[in-house]
Amino acid sequence: MNLKPEAIAFVNLAAQQALIRDRLNAAITAVLDHGQYIMGPEITALEGHLAAFTGARHALTCSSGTDALLIAMLALGIGPGDAILCPAFTYTATPESIALLGASPVFVDVDENTFNVTLPGLEAGLAAAKMAGLKAKGIIAVDLFGQPASYTEINAFAQANGLYVIADAAQSFGASVGGARVGTLAHVTATSFFPAKPLGCYGDGGAIFTDDNDLALVMDSIRLHGRATGGDKYDIARVGVNGRLDTLQAAILLEKLVIFEDEIVKRNAVADFYSRGLATFTRVPCVAPNVRSVWAQYTLRLPSAAVRTHVAAGLKADGIPTAVYYPRPLHHQTAYRHFPAQSGGLPISERLVDEVLSLPMHPYLRQDEQDRIINTIGRLL
Ligand SMILES: *Cc1c(COP(=O)(O)O)cnc(C)c1O
Repeated sequence: MNLKPEAIAFVNLAAQQALIRDRLNAAITAVLDHGQYIMGPEITALEGHLAAFTGARHALTCSSGTDALLIAMLALGIGPGDAILCPAFTYTATPESIALLGASPVFVDVDENTFNVTLPGLEAGLAAAKMAGLKAKGIIAVDLFGQPASYTEINAFAQANGLYVIADAAQSFGASVGGARVGTLAHVTATSFFPAKPLGCYGDGGAIFTDDNDLALVMDSIRLHGRATGGDKYDIARVGVNGRLDTLQAAILLEKLVIFEDEIVKRNAVADFYSRGLATFTRVPCVAPNVRSVWAQYTLRLPSAAVRTHVAAGLKADGIPTAVYYPRPLHHQTAYRHFPAQSGGLPISERLVDEVLSLPMHPYLRQDEQDRIINTIGRLL
C-alpha cells in the first residue's frame, strides 16, 4: 500500500486559532455588542499595547502595511521630483506608495547574507538619484524575512546625507536588535498585520511607529481623511486617506498579542532546528550578531534555478509546500523598470531570485514535520 504523506502547512493559522479560539470569540462578541466598528475602544487599547510592546512613543494602527508606508511618506511630504532609495529584492508594496505619490523609487542591491540593503548600495543609489536629476529624500529599508536591516549604519548614512529613514517592517514586527525592538530602530516604522505575517489579524491591517511627536500628529490626521488635530470630523486640515484599522481586527490583534512573545520564541526554535539539520546540505539563513529575527520566512539558498526546481518539486510530491520570495527583482518588473537603479546592475538581487526557496515556517511546526522536511531535502540534494 502506498500511503500518501500527511500534508504540512506552510503557515498554520488554524493551530494558533485553536489555542485562543474562546478568547477570540469573546473579543469579537464584545465588539458586536458595543457596535463601535470604526475607531472603537479596542483601537486605543491596541495602540497602547503596541507602543508598550515596541517601546515606541507613538503607535498608530492603520488599514494595511502598504497604507502604513503611504501615510508615513504623505506625512513626510514626499512627492514629484523626489527619490526614495529602496531594495530591488522585496515585495511590490515597498516601491508602490513611492510611485503612487509621484516620487521615484531608486532600486539598490542587497547583502547576499542578510538580503537587506547595504551602505555601498545606498551610496550607489544616491548617485543614481542625482544622475536622474531627482532630489533624494529618503530610504525605505526593508527587514526582509523578519530580520531588521542594519539601522545603525543606515541612520548614520541618512543623517550625513539629509535623508529620512522609513523602516518597512511588514515582515519583522516583534524582532529586535540588542534590547531595541522593531518600531524604535528608524525615524518611522511601518508594519503589516496581513494574516500570514508574524503578527497577523483576520483581514488587512497595519501600524506605524515613531518617536517624533509632530510626525505622529500628522500621520494620525492623514489616516482619518486629513482631519484637523483636535477638530471635528468636518474640519479638514490636509489631504488624507481612509486609512483606519477596523475595530474587529484590533480586538483580534489584542488577543494574538498576548501569545506573540511565546510565538517568537517558538519561531526561533523552529529556525534553529532547521539550520542545524540543513547546514550540511545547503546555504541556510544568516542572522547578524545581536539580532533576533521573527522568521517571517525561513529561506534557503540553492546552487541554481534548476536545483531549486528539483527540490521544490520533490518536496511538493512529499506533501511539503514551499514558496519563492521573490521570483523577480523589482527593477525588472514591467511597472518599475523605467525607474532608476544603482548603476552597474544589481547582481545579488538578480541572482537571489533564482536561488531562494522558503520552507514552511510557523510557531506550531512539529519536530517530526521538520525532520521529514530536512530528510526530504537531504535526499533530494
Ligand atoms: C506584506 C508586505 C507589505 C505590505 O503589507 P500589506 O499589509 O499586505 O499591505 C509591505 N512590504 C513588505 C516587505 C511586505 O512583506
